[in-house]
Amino acid sequence: MRDELLKNPVFAMAANQFDQVADFLALDDELRERCKWPKRLITVAIPVRHDDGNTKVYFGHRVQHHLTRGPVKGGLRYSPDVDLGEVAALAMWMNWKCALLDLPYGGGKGGINCDPRTLSMGELERITRRFTMEMIPFIGQDIDVMAPDMGTNEQTMSWIVDTYSTHAGRLVPGIVTGKPLCLQGSAGRTRATGHGVAFLASRALNKLGIDVGSATAIVQGFGNVGLHTALTLASYGVKVKGVSDISGAVWNEAGLDLNKLADHVAATKGVVGFAHGDAVDPAEMLCRECDILAPAAAGMVITAANAGQLRCKVLAEGANGPTTPEADAILAARGDIFVLPDILCNAGGVTVSYFEWVQNLQRYSWSEREVLTKLETKLEAAFARTLAFASQHGIGHRHAAQALAIKTVAEVKAQRGMFP
Ligand code: GLU
Repeated sequence: MRDELLKNPVFAMAANQFDQVADFLALDDELRERCKWPKRLITVAIPVRHDDGNTKVYFGHRVQHHLTRGPVKGGLRYSPDVDLGEVAALAMWMNWKCALLDLPYGGGKGGINCDPRTLSMGELERITRRFTMEMIPFIGQDIDVMAPDMGTNEQTMSWIVDTYSTHAGRLVPGIVTGKPLCLQGSAGRTRATGHGVAFLASRALNKLGIDVGSATAIVQGFGNVGLHTALTLASYGVKVKGVSDISGAVWNEAGLDLNKLADHVAATKGVVGFAHGDAVDPAEMLCRECDILAPAAAGMVITAANAGQLRCKVLAEGANGPTTPEADAILAARGDIFVLPDILCNAGGVTVSYFEWVQNLQRYSWSEREVLTKLETKLEAAFARTLAFASQHGIGHRHAAQALAIKTVAEVKAQRGMFP
């Protein structure tokens, strides 16, 4: 299994990061092994009848990295690139993210190898419901709580609630987070990840002495995370000059009209062709001058090929794993870019998921203002801890965030002891 997982480049990247941190923390061999490898790797076949009458079998994965500190928490993604190794890497990162934010969770991640853009609503519903049925022995509000990720949304979560609750014979809203408000979702959850990215980026600008109100930004990705990152930055007065997605990239030197862009994307499914901006090359756009560069889409986009050319002051990682270790080494050698590492920068989503789960368990709901205030308090604390640890040990922010998280998990594992 070790070799199988390590064959996947994303898992190899996460494992490499773990090894470096374990060396830094001088973890003994026993704790190293116990912290590194996932507890449960579950793969199920999902036979689904398509609208044309043909049946296809999809494969769904769920990796529960650790249950040591509580139920596992993490998204479910639908993408043609999903495989077990990638899901295991994302579960490991979720584990660190939850520990860094001091949430009482282990990390989990799930994925179904399908292309949601080519599937009808009916097909997506059948895939989701069948996957949920297959997962019933392994999930529960105290065991494993899923949430939206790439290619999934509130509707996907609603189908999971409905399938699980029908099986349980009662409504179990705490089985997933990221639900719509009418199904006991939380105020502020939809915007939470992007809000957190923008909030932390503004805190980074404060630290650098750059005025937020006259800053500029480039956002890669215009899904839920990219959209809300851009909108929240704009609400702070930041000029968002460039936005890209899978269809292309658009640029407006005076700042893009984000509401118009959102309408365009809703109508055409991509930023390409937006009338109030110029079409630019998406890869070249990442290297343009700006204060904040926010990769908020896929992993491994800041690489050895472009890290040396970046001209941002703050790299705000809205995506999971956007920067490769080679690129990290280049950024560290440059020393002129303030890195907000993914497990800190995009943790707003899982933090508000935690608030949603707490509200569900309490049968109570908080206002959006309460949720966002609590979110900013949590993010600020993790930001301050990360910066203090980095300067105390003379290490980069990513290394510091990962070290704080892995130290937390290792301490609990050591305290609980090994069974039997
Ligand atoms: N999918 C999001 C992430 O990667 C949110 C996970 C959650 O809310 O559980 O952080």
